[in-house]
Amino acid sequence: MKTIGLIGGMSWESTAIYYARLNQQMQRRRGGFSSAEILLRSVDFARIVALQQRGAWDEAAEDMIAQARALERGGADMVLICTNTMHRVADAVAQAISVPLLHIVDVVAAALKARGLRRPLLLATRYTMEQDFWLGRMRDRHGLSPLVPASADDRGLVHTVIFDELCHGLVRDASRAAFCAVIESGKLAGADGVILGCTEIGMLIGPNDTELPIFDSTFLHADAALDLALAEPPD
Ligand code: GLU
Repeated sequence: MKTIGLIGGMSWESTAIYYARLNQQMQRRRGGFSSAEILLRSVDFARIVALQQRGAWDEAAEDMIAQARALERGGADMVLICTNTMHRVADAVAQAISVPLLHIVDVVAAALKARGLRRPLLLATRYTMEQDFWLGRMRDRHGLSPLVPASADDRGLVHTVIFDELCHGLVRDASRAAFCAVIESGKLAGADGVILGCTEIGMLIGPNDTELPIFDSTFLHADAALDLALAEPPD
């Protein structure tokens, strides 16, 4: 079994979900007392949020590279950045290490393609919905055409609920209803699925909240790491 390296703490609420999912799925697949081999670098999220707010992406890249190198030195066989937003600097991180970086967009794209979907609605932070690093990779590498909520108010609502509530462990019915309304608008605009493209949104929204198929980036990312950890080396 390979060792899974996690850059977490962004927020720690979602890293806890990664940790639980990896171990639950390993237990399910291997049985007995099996659990995942994991190395975790959990950062101070306050530092990262400040960099995001200043748009200091070069500094953020240096920070993530330092975490990834620490994981590699510690024996990680792969690295996961446990947040969609910080995939803004994923290419720089991938180039700085010699073990694979498991890119969250590639994992979500594979799940969409397996279901034959092309036009999902992306719910995420403003950085992820409004910059091109996430959507561009979906489009250019995977030939998919995700939508984001059309109104800036809706994008603002999703962003605010992520940072002001979910990252603090607050799960509110009113916010779930507001997200469902945003999903409904996406459906009317032609969305064929919903990507939970922020690693905390699964705390709020699940498959019972919409008729559209849900793609939870946290679960998909963790499950793909486990596939890689358990893959037999080629002969
Ligand atoms: N965990 C969130 C994400 O997946 C947001 C936290 C962050 O800004 O990194 O994008």
